Order: sequence, then structure tokens, then C-alpha cells
Amino acid sequence: MLSLLRSQCRGVATRSVPSWSTRTYFTQKDASKKKYSSELAKYRNIGIIAHVDAGKTTTCERMLYYSGMIRRIGEVHKGDTVMDHLKMERERGITITAATITFPWQNHRINLVDTPGHVDFTVEVERSVRVMDGAVAIFDAVAGVQAQSITVWNQADRYQVPRIAFVNKMDREGATAEKTLKMMQARLNAVPLPLQIPVDVGPMFGAVVDLVDMKVITWEGDKGEQVEIHDILTYGGEQLMARAKAHRDQLLTTLVDLDEQLMQEYFEKDGDVSDTTLRAAVRRATVAMKAVPTMFGSSLKNKGVQQVMDSVIHYLPSPLDRDPPTAVDMRTNKTVSIAANTKDPLVALAFKVVHDKRRGLIVFSRVYAGVLKAGTTIFNAKKGGEKERVQKLLQVAADDMEEISELRAGDIGAILGLRDVSTGDTLIYEPSNDRALRPVLKGIVNPPPVFFCALEPDTEKDYNPLIEALEILQREDPSFLYHISEAQQILISGMGELHLEIIKDRLDNHFKVACTMGRMQVSYKGTISESIREDDIVESFDVQTSAGVKTYTAGVSISMEPLEPGTGNQIKFELEDSVVESMEKSVLDRVKQSITEGIESSFQRGLPLGFPVIDVGVTIHGIFYRSEAETPPMAFRNCVIRSILKLGDQAGAVILEPLMNLEISVDEKYLGSVLSDLSRQRRGTIKEVGMEKNTHIISALVPLKEMIGYSTQLRSFTHGNASFTMEYSHNGRVSANEVAKVLQEIRGY
Ligand code: GDP
Repeated sequence: MLSLLRSQCRGVATRSVPSWSTRTYFTQKDASKKKYSSELAKYRNIGIIAHVDAGKTTTCERMLYYSGMIRRIGEVHKGDTVMDHLKMERERGITITAATITFPWQNHRINLVDTPGHVDFTVEVERSVRVMDGAVAIFDAVAGVQAQSITVWNQADRYQVPRIAFVNKMDREGATAEKTLKMMQARLNAVPLPLQIPVDVGPMFGAVVDLVDMKVITWEGDKGEQVEIHDILTYGGEQLMARAKAHRDQLLTTLVDLDEQLMQEYFEKDGDVSDTTLRAAVRRATVAMKAVPTMFGSSLKNKGVQQVMDSVIHYLPSPLDRDPPTAVDMRTNKTVSIAANTKDPLVALAFKVVHDKRRGLIVFSRVYAGVLKAGTTIFNAKKGGEKERVQKLLQVAADDMEEISELRAGDIGAILGLRDVSTGDTLIYEPSNDRALRPVLKGIVNPPPVFFCALEPDTEKDYNPLIEALEILQREDPSFLYHISEAQQILISGMGELHLEIIKDRLDNHFKVACTMGRMQVSYKGTISESIREDDIVESFDVQTSAGVKTYTAGVSISMEPLEPGTGNQIKFELEDSVVESMEKSVLDRVKQSITEGIESSFQRGLPLGFPVIDVGVTIHGIFYRSEAETPPMAFRNCVIRSILKLGDQAGAVILEPLMNLEISVDEKYLGSVLSDLSRQRRGTIKEVGMEKNTHIISALVPLKEMIGYSTQLRSFTHGNASFTMEYSHNGRVSANEVAKVLQEIRGY
């Protein structure tokens, strides 16, 4: 390979060929060897994050091809790529479900977690980001940094995931390197480190200068599989050399500011920094999340993907380079950190659960500590319950799975044979004694569902299969919920119209249950705006018993307060010691349980306005208890339900609605009409109107309710000259003059 490369190179370097140009790329012949390293330092658990259409699927396909995992390249427009392995994904032409795939590159093991770019699937992205040690962000060289990239970027920030960037589609008319670099600074607050410069841009794009090794790279052969290294002067003359030197100087200046070690070496050697020194400095800055090495290319034209793969190895961290994740020990309630050590007891995170018709549940897991072996029994650290047997372990090649005997700390793979596992669960071996750790890894942040609708089985015999299917879907996807209302109606809720449509699609095609979906509705919530406390609310209840009517009495002192948005509901007991001491512990526990159930049930039914309650804190300060005969613990449930209704009336109940961040790209001609439609018809708040090239970019905050059917309407009144993306921002208060409309919409009168 090496001699082939050299012989085909135009103007091969005269100085010794740097080490990286002498590597042998994996070719398809190597596929059968599957050269994975078992050294943890040579693992790279990475994901690709991007705005939909930036080229994730196209890039993945090349990665698999160059690493020898597949023999031909599928294309998105033909619907035959490996990552789009679900039939539904093929039909819709978007990547919905994150799949993992393992492949070798330069004697390293890359576990690639694919992430969906569609906004309806943010939780999918979140749970993938959670298990990555590093990520490749792909941008479109024409569109630059788009809305969803920002969302995913923020998620990666939240989980402290170091990143490199690939500016794709350099072959497109209008592509530039600078625009994306500037947008990375402005919109992502990132420090891009361009490690290359494209020699030409647009349709002429065909080469980059590597600023670390100061060489020109081109890609030859049918699929760009042949990487050729050229001397800069021979390839592009003095002019290109001058450009390259200026950019390398700029790169060094940026890096010296970020990395003290490099600064010392830089001054000691009078600015003459070797490629090895430079690469080490880039790695330190990347792992410390101070900078983002950036490469340029065109996946579709098979240019540049190998350099991205090399950079994954050079710059992104191995599991050993990362801060160990934290977990809560269920036994002591203390926070512990889980080091990536194969000698420690097993700790694994089930980050994705998928139902497969043939194989049952497939539990995609990342092992953080210890070794998970096939054939052993594991234990759900949070739920406890039954031990379950790991029937098989699989490493995934998209729709093809290879059986393996163990998954070691740092590794990602799939477990078969488990039944009672949901996305987000921590799996361990059963603690050997009472003192052994029972760690539960920190969970995944789930945005609240914003849409709901009713679901009706077509016939009575479809009811049970439907509930079973919904149970599985909920296990797979924590952002999907179903519940049965008091009127015995099945309600499903999710992240968007498309999310629920896909659930329906799976019910039809995967589970084959016949059901009908009702009208899609926005999911409103209720909360309170004022704190309120009421002491000694005593309630009596008459209960018909076999010995006649019996009156039970229970009382509470209770307060409610509004909490910060996103906190959820909280229940606290602040009972005086004398109360606690006067009651038997088992009775007190049952009383507390009954009070908690009462509060949860009231919140589910809603305060006066009838919407499920969020972000409210309830504290029980005192209880009125006579004896178990006169005040059975159950009586507290009713007492609390009545108390909360009373208090809710006085605590300024308000309705909340989901507000969405909206980004619209629109031509000059239609800017005025789009803006006026947003503020006049849709209760939108315009945050910013920017300009990129000849397109205006509007950022706005708009209630989700006003966005139903927007894509069709926008297309029609701009004649197709506008496009938009949106994502959930937060729940905001429905203004007083909208409340009546909302109530009418929900109640139907
Ligand atoms: P994803 O949604 O991020 O997975 O993006 P895809 O890989 O599905 O690509 C979206 C569209 O962009 C498809 O039509 C691709 O063929 C096209 N595409 C991807 N990469 C390139 C590229 O480098 N250049 C050009 N011109 N088109 C590309």
C-alpha cells in the first residue's frame, strides 16, 4: 500500500515522509480480520452530531467503507445506507434511531454511536451523547452552523464531550471555509482550530493542505480510497506555500494561547514546532475542551473522510482520558465515581432499548467498569427485582450483529435475553454482600412531552396487544409516555407530531395492532404563581362498612410553593419530632405513602384548571392523627387531595404551554410577510433577524400551538422560498386573554 501510495504521488516530499503518511489504511481485504485492539487506550467511543442533512449518514457510510466493514457504498438518496437500517428510516429518508457500530481504524477500535438530527428526537441524541467520549460535529459548508447543531452542541457541552469538526459539502456552489469557522465562534462559542485549508472551494474542491504536516492531500481511486500526499510547493507553488504558512502561524498563535506546554516549547525552539509536538498540543486542547480541530471535505465526493477518522484517533479521548462518571450508591445515598477499570465490579448503562421481533429486547449498553460476560446473570441497580441472564452479547454492524463473549470497561455493545430493562437503567452484578456498592449512574435529562393524542383500539381484542406494545415502546423511549385516563381513554404523548406518527407507524407495521389515533393536541401544564400555607386542615369522610357508616378523620398542615421551571414536583415532610416519636414507624411510613399518593394523584388530575401540574413544591408540616381505627393511613390520601384543591384555588393557578425556538431562513422578498405573520398571527416574539449570504435568518420564540401545520402554510405564502427548524425551549405562561381559548379548545365548549 505504502509503495503504491508513494509511486502514485505527484511531488512526494523530499524530507523524510512523516509518520502519518506512511500508515496503511484498512482496505476491504482487512474486513475479515477485524483488527480491534483490546487496549482501553485504543478505544474511541464517538458519535456524529449535526443538523439534519449536513451529511452524517453519507459520512458514516464512507467510514465503514474505508475501514473495510462494507464492500460498497450505499447512498442516502437511494435509501440503501447501512446506518439507515430500519425500514421506516429508509422510507422517510431520515435517520431516526441511534444505532451503534464498531469498526477498526489504525489498530484502534471505534465504537460509533449514530445520532438522529431531527428535532423530534432530541432524547435519542441526548442518550447517545451520554455514552460518547468524543464527537465529530459535521457542518454544511454552505449553510454553516444551523439550529439543530446548536442544540446538539449544547447537549455535548452538558456531558463534557470533546469534539472535532468536519466542514462537509465543500464541493457545493457557495461553499466557504471561513463562514463555518466564524459561525462556530459566534453561535457555538467554540474555538475552531482549522488543521487544514481547502486548496479550492466549490465544484473545484479536490485537495486540502494539512497544516500539521505541511503537505497537500488528495483522494484518488474510484471511492477516494487512495490518499495521496504531495509536497506543497510542487503541488501549488509559492502562493499556496505562503497561504499555508500564514494559516499554520495562525494555528500556532491560537494554540500557544491555549496550551502552556506548547507555549514553552514554542519559545524554546523559536517557533519551530515539530508535527509531533503540534499534534500533542492539539490533542491536549481538544481533550480539555478548549478548542475544536476542524477539517474540510466532501463526503459525497469521497474527499476528506479518512482525515476525519485519523483525527478521531489523534485528538479525541479514549475512555481513560475522561473524567469517570458519577453514580449514586443506592445503599448509602453517596455519590461515587466509576473509574474505567476492568478489575472493578461491573457497572453498565443501558442507554438504548429496542424491541426486535425475532430477538426480543436488545439492550444497547456501555460498560463503564468491570467486564460483562455472556451467560452471566445481572441485576438492575435501581429497580432491584429479579436477576436476569445475559443470553448473548453482540457487537453491532448496523443490521448485522456479531456475537462476542464479553464487553469490557469502556466498550459499547448489545445485550440479548433481558426483559425488565428500560432506557437509562444501570446494570451490575448482584452485590455480593450488604456492604457492596449498588451504584446507579446519573440519568438522562428528558425534555417534557409537548404533544399528546388519544389512541383507540379498533376492536376489543386489540386492547391487550396495544397496551403490551405501548409498554415496550415506553421502555425503549423515555420521551414517549402513555397513560390511561380516568375516563379509561388511552392517551399517548411525545416530542412532536412526527414522533407520535412514528409511534403509530410502529404500532401498525412492527406490532401489527389495529388502532386509530385521535387529534394531535398540545400538551398544556398547570402550575402556581404564589406560595401558600394552611395549617390544620381537618377533613372527615364517611365510609360505608358492614357495621354501618363510619366516619374517619385526618388532618394536615400543608404548604405549596412555585419552583423554578424544569425542577419538577417535589414533596417534603417536615414533621415535628414529637409527632414522629408518637407514632409507630410502620404506621408513619404508611401515612407518608398515602399522603404522597394523594399529592401525586392531585397533580395528575390538575389543580383547578385541570392540567397536569409541574414545578410545584409541597411540604407537609404537621399531621392530625388519632388512632389507626379512627384515622387509617388511607384517610390521608383523601384529606390531601381536598387540601390541595383548596390551596390551588388561592395560589394563583396558571396554564403553561410549550414554547419553541424557531429559526427561519427566508428570502428578502418574503421577510416582511413572514415577520408580520409571526408576530400578528402566531403570538411569536422575534429575537433576532440576521443575514447570511442573501438569506435572512429569523430567530423567534413561538408557542407550539401556533406552529401546527406551519410548514405547509409557510411554503404556500413564500412560494417555497423559506425553510424553518424548531426545538422545544421551555414551558411559558399562557397570557390571560388566551386562557379562555385554551380552555375552550380542550373542553370543547
Ligand atoms: P444526514 O441527514 O446528516 O444524515 O445527511 P445525509 O448524509 O442524509 O445527506 C443529506 C444530503 O446531502 C443527501 O442528499 C446527500 O447526498 C447530500 N450530501 C452529503 N454529503 C455531501 C457532500 O459532501 N456534498 C454534497 N454536494 N452533498 C452531500
